[in-house]
Amino acid sequence: MKFIILGAGPGLPTLDRNQSCLYINMSERHILADCGEGTAQKLLRHGLDANVIDAILITHYHPDHISGIYMVLQMLYLQQRTKPLKLFLPERQSEFLATLSLFYTFPTRFQFILEVYPVAEVGSHIGGIIPVMNDHLLGYGDHIHRYSLKNMMQAYSLRFEEGDGSLVYTSDLATMESIRPIVLSTHSVIIDALHPNYKQISALQDMSIQRIILTHGISDELAAWLEEANDPRFEPAREDYAYYL
Ligand SMILES: [Zn+2]
Repeated sequence: MKFIILGAGPGLPTLDRNQSCLYINMSERHILADCGEGTAQKLLRHGLDANVIDAILITHYHPDHISGIYMVLQMLYLQQRTKPLKLFLPERQSEFLATLSLFYTFPTRFQFILEVYPVAEVGSHIGGIIPVMNDHLLGYGDHIHRYSLKNMMQAYSLRFEEGDGSLVYTSDLATMESIRPIVLSTHSVIIDALHPNYKQISALQDMSIQRIILTHGISDELAAWLEEANDPRFEPAREDYAYYL
């Protein structure tokens, strides 16, 4: 398995980081997990545009994880892509498709077929990918209830498996509780190092993981702990670097 972090920045834009996007090459498939702003340009830079990508998985609908999808689809349309594209979305798939029409990006004009599915079902379409719902969006519950909104608070972490290799991409999350089973004994983890309490991240030390890649920013408490712990398994995410496992 090979993966490249195309965007490791936090939700607050910064000058030197792209927003969340991860490329995974496994079992001869080319997969994108999340599509933050700037993803189309990153695909061009790495030669992953036109007919390369097989599937795009969106973990949740925060703008730094989804906003780049519109320019990716426009680019693929203008490049006259012909290969079908599977798009896995966390919730309210038909409402997302309506936004494409709103932006005059009509799937009926694409030369490729855009197949849209719930990300919860990705495992039945692509072997070796396990989605697990996490607690990232649950804090919006009161607001959603108060204003009778339709938001379903669906946010996912993803585990990718190929042979003996396994990678977990936590995406954003509040705590580790909901995803502990998929993280245990995985080879590599790409974890949101900004939102969870630093104790939750430091606890990964005892979970038989070989590489813990910290993305989305690093909280001050975690930075202090890292300096003290001096454990080489923890490393800041490197954008555009090819990792292998
Ligand atoms: Zn988020």
